[in-house]
Amino acid sequence: MPFQLSSALEAVTTAARAAAHEVDAQGRFPKEAVDAARRTGLLGLVSAVEVGGAGLGLRQAALAVETIAQDCGSAAMVLTMHWCGATVIEKLGREPVRRAIARGDHLSTLAFSESGSRSHFWAPMGTATLAGDAVELQADKSWITSANHADAYVWSSRPSSASGMSTLWLVPRDAAGLEMGAAYDGFGLRGNDSCAVRARSVRVAMASRLGEDGAGFDAMMRIVLPTFSVLIAAGSIGIMEAALSATVKHCTETHHMHLSTSLADLPTIRETIARMRIRVDATRALWLDSLDAIERARPDAMLRVLEVKAAAADAAIEVVDAAMRAGGGAAYRKEAGLERRFRDARAAAVMAPTSDQLHDFLGKAVCGMPLF
Ligand SMILES: Cc1cc2nc3c(=O)[nH]c(=O)nc-3n(C[C@H](O)[C@H](O)[C@H](O)COP(=O)(O)OP(=O)(O)OC[C@H]3O[C@@H](n4cnc5c(N)ncnc54)[C@H](O)[C@@H]3O)c2cc1C
Repeated sequence: MPFQLSSALEAVTTAARAAAHEVDAQGRFPKEAVDAARRTGLLGLVSAVEVGGAGLGLRQAALAVETIAQDCGSAAMVLTMHWCGATVIEKLGREPVRRAIARGDHLSTLAFSESGSRSHFWAPMGTATLAGDAVELQADKSWITSANHADAYVWSSRPSSASGMSTLWLVPRDAAGLEMGAAYDGFGLRGNDSCAVRARSVRVAMASRLGEDGAGFDAMMRIVLPTFSVLIAAGSIGIMEAALSATVKHCTETHHMHLSTSLADLPTIRETIARMRIRVDATRALWLDSLDAIERARPDAMLRVLEVKAAAADAAIEVVDAAMRAGGGAAYRKEAGLERRFRDARAAAVMAPTSDQLHDFLGKAVCGMPLF
């Protein structure tokens, strides 16, 4: 059956919505949503038609993440990292794995962050040592979304022999020598299965290298950064929309009965809601303009890429904070659906490049200084 984005998204959001509370409460993987993405072809969204994929691009992936994030931030995060990995593999990977992604048989993710260089993902400390026609990887990866569920990791290391900052590899999750860290028990995005993974003499074939030795940094900047920034921003916008809708519903349906007025009759509450709406719409406008800049290779595309993740992450924190205040004590109860968004929204700002780093990069870019 030909791929239909609207019906695939409907199936995934229905599954994500039904499980979202349990995923958060139990900190378990959003299996139902990911299974629906496999079944409906959504995992193959950015895969080329020639390998059996939907042949769509970053814009459609971004709209999908934004829609799914309204129901389940964890499912949106898992798919964000999948499409980041899948985009790298589409450009630099071999055909069999591209076909597996297109068929929905391969869940991808990025394994960049390390306990040594922390959020400075562009500077891996893990090594790749030549061993005949293979390499041996040693690393302490600090966070990998879908660590226990991805089929393989798009993995960064120092180059094996070339100069440059890094090299990328495709490392199967079941490779001998990979050790999983403790299960993720986080503050927000509790279902994203983001665990530490150690590599102790993990042997991978030279053919699993993604791109040239030493060319990892270029792939990170050219392929990963635009995809990651726009998709993480999509998640932030989806979470904001959900928090705003829940706030409007609560404030219009909740009454001070002795006064015969709703919470929305209070001008202060309406002002809060208006400010939330402006923040979401302004962020959405920047996000759509960023997509336009990337698609048309506009000269300001890199500036937009740096701006959009920081702007959306910071806006999301403000909007969910306002939602918690307008929602009063009721917002503290899980059934209001606000406190989950409050927790989920905070992660984007500390995912690398973090908001702090992006502000530094942006300041340098605006002042005409080199970013690194
Ligand atoms: C839910 C979740 C899922 C994740 N999934 C993945 C994944 O799939 N793959 C992956 O590779 N990583 C992943 N990460 C890791 C993420 O991208 C960051 O690397 C990580 O969150 C950084 O945390 P840290 O404690 O190591 O930060 P630190 O580097 O210790 O930073 C601490 C603080 O210092 C600030 N800081 C650091 N450097 C600078 C600087 N140069 N200028 C200004 N401020 C600075 C930071 O902004 C931060 O506020 C995930 C993280 C989270 C929270």
